[in-house]
Amino acid sequence: MRKAIMVFGPPGAGKGTQANLLAAKLGLIHFDTGKYIELIVQDPSKRSDPEIDKYRMMFDRGELLPAAWVYKLVKEGTQKILDSGFGVVFSGSPRTYEEAFEAEGKDRGFLYFLEEKLGRENLHAFFLKVTPETSIKRNSNRLICTICGTAVMYHEHSRPEFCPICGGLFRRRTLDIPEAIKVRLVEYEKKTAPIIEGMRDRGYEVTEIDGEPLPYEVFAEILNKL
Ligand SMILES: [Zn+2]
Repeated sequence: MRKAIMVFGPPGAGKGTQANLLAAKLGLIHFDTGKYIELIVQDPSKRSDPEIDKYRMMFDRGELLPAAWVYKLVKEGTQKILDSGFGVVFSGSPRTYEEAFEAEGKDRGFLYFLEEKLGRENLHAFFLKVTPETSIKRNSNRLICTICGTAVMYHEHSRPEFCPICGGLFRRRTLDIPEAIKVRLVEYEKKTAPIIEGMRDRGYEVTEIDGEPLPYEVFAEILNKL
């Protein structure tokens, strides 16, 4: 049976890493919402579109983009995955309470879309809990490969230049500069964290997992609870 797994947590909680591990283990497609949006807003061929340009500036500052716009994109992308017969794991969707529950009016949002497609029994949600200190530390020391997207952590004294997987150049994301990280944390608390309460209020189960240990330990805990 196809399923959808949602991985929640503040920036740097390890959502992307865990989603990749889950996708590989369970044969799901990983829908990385942040990366998906980044590809669209940073696309040079879309610079002339004033709406996209506005969203690019918001994105670079670490702000979350309008729920209705994100909802439409993610819904379309998810529909394609489901149509191909695969289940899906999300790192970063839904992003806001509004998107989850009210993107198209009251009780019409991403959660309802997924439930309609897959049934509530096939939806799983995990919340990776980390402290704000961990969140900031992990984001500040993160590099992303410009070619294959591999993310690595580094120490100030030994910042790698090239990706060990594909040889591509590493870069720091605009999102991972300290100013943007602070904005992201505030945005997360204000707009994303309320989704978890909202889901519980509506009878969805959201399993809390300690996100502080090493990724393989966190992964074992998730599998244990799935
Ligand atoms: Zn690479």
